[in-house]
Amino acid sequence: MASHIVGYPRMGPKRELKFALESFWDGKSSAEDLKKVSADLRASIWKQQAGAGIKYIPSNTFSYYDQVLDATATLGAVPPRYGWTGGEVEFDTYFSMARGNASVPAMEMTKWFDTNYHFIVPELGPDVNFTYSSHKAVEEYKEAKALGVDTIPVLIGPVSYLLLSKSAKGVDKSFSLLSLLPKVLAVYKEVVADLKAAGASWIQFDEPTLVLDLESHKLQAFTDAYEELASTLSGLNVLIETYFADVPAEAYRTITSLSSVTAYGFDLVRGTKTLDLIKGGFPSGKYLFAGVVDGRNIWANDLAASISTLQALEGVVGKDKLVVSTSSSLLHTAVDLVNETKLDDEIKSWLAFAAQKVVEVNALANALSGNKDEAFFSANAAALASRKSSPRVTNEAVQKAAAALKGSDHRRATNVSARLDAQQKKLNLPILPTTTIGSFPQTVELRRVRREYKAKKISEEEYVKAITEEIRQVVELQEELDIDVLVHGEPERNDMVEYFGEQLSGFAFTVNGWVQSYGSRCVKPPIIYGDVSRPKAMTVFWSSKAQSLTKRPMKGMLTGPVTILNWSFVRVDQPRSETCYQIALAIKDEVEDLEKAGISVIQIDEAALREGLPLRKSEHADYLDWSVHSFRITNVGVQDTTQIHTHMCYSHFNDIIHSIIDMDADVITIENSRSDEKLLSVFREGVKYGAGIGPGVYDIHSPRIPPTEEIADRINKMLAVLEKNILWVNPDCGLKTRKYTEVRPALTNLVTAAKLIRNEL
Ligand code: GLN
Ligand code: ZN
Repeated sequence: MASHIVGYPRMGPKRELKFALESFWDGKSSAEDLKKVSADLRASIWKQQAGAGIKYIPSNTFSYYDQVLDATATLGAVPPRYGWTGGEVEFDTYFSMARGNASVPAMEMTKWFDTNYHFIVPELGPDVNFTYSSHKAVEEYKEAKALGVDTIPVLIGPVSYLLLSKSAKGVDKSFSLLSLLPKVLAVYKEVVADLKAAGASWIQFDEPTLVLDLESHKLQAFTDAYEELASTLSGLNVLIETYFADVPAEAYRTITSLSSVTAYGFDLVRGTKTLDLIKGGFPSGKYLFAGVVDGRNIWANDLAASISTLQALEGVVGKDKLVVSTSSSLLHTAVDLVNETKLDDEIKSWLAFAAQKVVEVNALANALSGNKDEAFFSANAAALASRKSSPRVTNEAVQKAAAALKGSDHRRATNVSARLDAQQKKLNLPILPTTTIGSFPQTVELRRVRREYKAKKISEEEYVKAITEEIRQVVELQEELDIDVLVHGEPERNDMVEYFGEQLSGFAFTVNGWVQSYGSRCVKPPIIYGDVSRPKAMTVFWSSKAQSLTKRPMKGMLTGPVTILNWSFVRVDQPRSETCYQIALAIKDEVEDLEKAGISVIQIDEAALREGLPLRKSEHADYLDWSVHSFRITNVGVQDTTQIHTHMCYSHFNDIIHSIIDMDADVITIENSRSDEKLLSVFREGVKYGAGIGPGVYDIHSPRIPPTEEIADRINKMLAVLEKNILWVNPDCGLKTRKYTEVRPALTNLVTAAKLIRNEL
């Protein structure tokens, strides 16, 4: 039985690539240095997989920035504004597309399916002149070969490439991206021929768009593409790899009838229905790459369960045609458990990062070939059993409380307009009230204080003094600027999820469990391993302190349950909804404690609610139902006079507007400054929104200071579609990453613009 890995993290076990990239971008090291670090990382990954016994080891899964951008470079589809004149796409052009340069902004970036990875969106139009302009795939294949590892080169499939692209600016609406297929395929043919000539005997096309709800003409494109490639592909084993969800039945039928394709990879962790499709019929003589080891999570595989799945599949496809694989690229999991020095042995025994998953895949393949590593399997069974029975995992009271929520509904008794009236009596805010989203700039000095406190280099007393001083300054600044609803600035928080996770039970933290988010940026998601509870109040101390420094309302600042869930590695031994309800109950207690402490405006951020939306439309309703319910649970117990805000980092919520309304927050602040039109169209289409709404008027992602007139203009545009008594004026997200030299003038202009328009109303 053979084994395969779909793809592997590039950053390195200690984010070596991140540091090499950033040093190169800062001009502190040369292109050669960057290439050397990268080649070393690739070599160690290939050798590790070869050493573990993996048969089909991927190459070209490394990237200096993003694999979709690599495909764009390969196709020579560089947008004209980067001034590229042909030849091989080198670092300057490549990184300009990724990050922009002094004169040209970067290409757009968007989320890779439902992961936290972001790719660079290709911009295509009818005039793109596709030419073979990056030989990275064949170079990496040869590089591995020179190290004695015969790899399976991985390319983004041509159809997914086009389906993930967008039309370039100014291109006619009638233009269809799929019309570019023949031109794109011409380059793919050259790449394949090159790989063949270099000695490759297998090739992997990642076609993850196959798991989406595709219209039939899009499915037809797969047939057209692989038929067109047939003669070039002949003599090669061709794997079409899918991941992240079930493959719909029609897509399954389409691809399994492709004659030029000899192998199919499916995600059998998320794709349990795909399993049924395979059992219902699989083309004879073809290979099945069975993705049973989860590429999206950090839990140790249930090896016994995987063995029985694989044995059942053996009966369908035949022993020699079954290959054990990962459910997706391991890009979406942490790199190596070996570097976790702070996790205790029990928790560690429950986990597997990328390096450990490689070993699991191989152990499964060996076991099916009759070489079962008994010790490895029994250690795995023991770890699973210990997780099931560990008192650290189960908290009866929490289980009961969460179970009691199911099936019931939670809504504040009074409707939002009446609540807003009651709140206004208490808060007495001007029309178009001004506020900010929570964080204020985090200076080097501030980060140092937090770090030293964590490392016990300064005492609690010194820490409290320093943070209090920071809050005092933030409050003073806001009073000076004449902002209406203040924030404390979040100086005590490193990260909006980690801060809460560290104070809740059921969470564990890694030291090196980084996952690439985009480019050199990585996130380190907490691990939710057990029932979640709140041993004591988490934010009351700082919020009360901040409120005591001002007569103006001070917003309590919390992260909502759905966002905590979606930005963590979540346990898989119970439904996500159950874990979310548990977090909701913990946040509910915090909300009520803040209210008791005299905080009358509380913001519960749900920055990531939209991110958790399942890939398939058929699953949206269920997700939105329990996630919105979880949010409502957090504030169902407050008085009418307590104003609940929520914040979301996006504005395209046309498709989920009814769920947003159903959250029943008193005020919602959202991102908007880069997409006025899209947002306003929701309201133009007649959605009645009675709650307060603050569409961001200042783009905090850019250092640019918006002039007063521009902000005033934005407010006026909004007033054309929204009632004046529900409109708030605020930036579009937290100010954490900005500098005070930017924030002070920007907020000055924001308040001036609000006052200007107030006077006109
Ligand atoms: N309150 C958080 C902040 O201001 C919200 C951040 C976010 O939405 N990503 O930093
Ligand atoms: Zn935000």
